[in-house]
Amino acid sequence: ETAAQTRKFEAEVAQVLHLVTHSLYSHKEIFLRELVSNASDACDKLRFEALANPSLVEGDAELRIEISIDADARTLTLRDNGVGMSRDEVIENIGTIARSGTRKFLEALSGDARKDTQLIGQFGVGFYSAFIVADKVTLTTRRAGSAADAGVRWESDGTGEYTIADAADLPRGTSVTLHLKEEESEFLNAWQLRSLIGKYSDHIAFPIRMPKEAEDGKPGGEWETVNHAAALWTRPKSELKDDDYQGFYKSLAHDYNDAASWTHNRVEGSQSYTLLLFLPSKPPFDAMWSGRDERKGLKLYIRRVFIMDASEQLLPSYLRFMRGVVDSDDLPLNVSREILQDNRLVQQIRSACVKRSLDLLEKLANDDKEKFQAFVDNFGNVLKEGIAEDTANRERIAKLLRFASTKSDGAGRTVSLDDYIGRMAVGQDAIYYVSADGYAAAAGSPQIEALRARGVEVLLMFDRIDEWMLGYLHEYAGKKLRNAAKGELDLDALGGAADKEAREAANKAAEPLVAKLKELLGERVRDVRVGQRLTDSPSCLVLDEYDMALHLQRLMREAGQ
Ligand code: ADP
Ligand code: MG
Repeated sequence: ETAAQTRKFEAEVAQVLHLVTHSLYSHKEIFLRELVSNASDACDKLRFEALANPSLVEGDAELRIEISIDADARTLTLRDNGVGMSRDEVIENIGTIARSGTRKFLEALSGDARKDTQLIGQFGVGFYSAFIVADKVTLTTRRAGSAADAGVRWESDGTGEYTIADAADLPRGTSVTLHLKEEESEFLNAWQLRSLIGKYSDHIAFPIRMPKEAEDGKPGGEWETVNHAAALWTRPKSELKDDDYQGFYKSLAHDYNDAASWTHNRVEGSQSYTLLLFLPSKPPFDAMWSGRDERKGLKLYIRRVFIMDASEQLLPSYLRFMRGVVDSDDLPLNVSREILQDNRLVQQIRSACVKRSLDLLEKLANDDKEKFQAFVDNFGNVLKEGIAEDTANRERIAKLLRFASTKSDGAGRTVSLDDYIGRMAVGQDAIYYVSADGYAAAAGSPQIEALRARGVEVLLMFDRIDEWMLGYLHEYAGKKLRNAAKGELDLDALGGAADKEAREAANKAAEPLVAKLKELLGERVRDVRVGQRLTDSPSCLVLDEYDMALHLQRLMREAGQ
């Protein structure tokens, strides 16, 4: 027996609590979505554990979530008969910041209230969101499979401390009671709650029940289910509205922005599965997804049972911005990460995820320029990784890339390789680009003057990843990609014959100067040539075809290489 204890939250918890309650107020109703999603996760976990140990669900097999109101006590209670928590788990999960994402979130905080509010909105605040509307939260829970007297009671006012005590005679699962703040009476209104559940939690796969109102408007002791209670992706597409998908997306991704687009497919054949993939409209804050080690967002279900987050197994890294669900009919329920790694069925599903994601992006590029541009701005550099990573889809990925160019307006990445090819000059057979470490440097490169003067468009590459990507992108639609700053530019094809004669005359005239320069520069350069690149600048450095780009050489030097 352990007696009641008062404990302090970890310093970080106190910080999150403070932020949540002060900055999320304008989105306060998300607490309901977060608590329902925890209850649903707990039911998922129990169902998963019961695969190996069926006795866990004995006596109470219909997993569900119940929401009830006590207007006199001003409380709102969410109860689930899911997996529950042991005492240690309560301390670990509720009293500390167990999730590494939360730590990163805290590291990302800027101290600027407006920015931090945006951050926190993009980040699932989870359990602590209860304190937006409650001045006291009581949680009671008993772990599935534990003895009847092994329950736990946790309580806090969300300021710095909580109490934890043993509790006997609790049913399996977790009950969370919110003691609502004075000004939050709207959440005591059953009608209001139903409408919020409809908005945020309709797709939850377990029944969410509320007391049925009798004739006199008072609860009559019976319960009724207030959501669809069927996994959204299993429902026929014809029955689903945009709002249903958006509601599902928001709770899946803990995002309060709408998804930009989605794709929902049922595949039947040698193996059967359902895919539902979403493209977010805004990136989650950086730390959450740029790290390759920590990827979340694609959930694997097997015959409606949640198995695990399997983003790394089901999506290549360059598509890590996608969110969604895969539900397989054929994988064994006891799969492990190791099995997923080299399972033939999983490989097929993974290819399908890639194909569907690229389809979705192509469709967006064709149908909605504005949304596609937002995608390019938010995730374009992630997609570029695919040029190196996914040889089989290189051409499709390249088609989706957008760049700044000498014919586009400013630094915005708006020109596709197809746009470029569509306006290539007569006689031009290559796609020219120049790379530098910023837009201005690229646009102002002396090496592209002659191309510019001849009306030849040059793509301007200045993102960190570009140089690396270009190492893998040698050709597109049968056209070579050529660095305008490397090797000889064959401008004869672009200019006329007269051009050529004039140049030969100029070469002749310059011979004494070239000889003098060679003498002066000596060992420091490989050669001095009369080139065709420049029109205004008197001279420039040019690299051999296989030399490293200048700014890359500089980066290497800076890194001490
Ligand atoms: P997340 O759900 O993203 O992990 P939360 O803050 O919502 O973060 O919840 C923290 C943890 O608390 C959960 O991961 C889970 O372990 C535990 N938890 C919260 N609610 C419940 C519940 N109803 N039943 C069982 N465990 C829960
Ligand atoms: Mg949660």
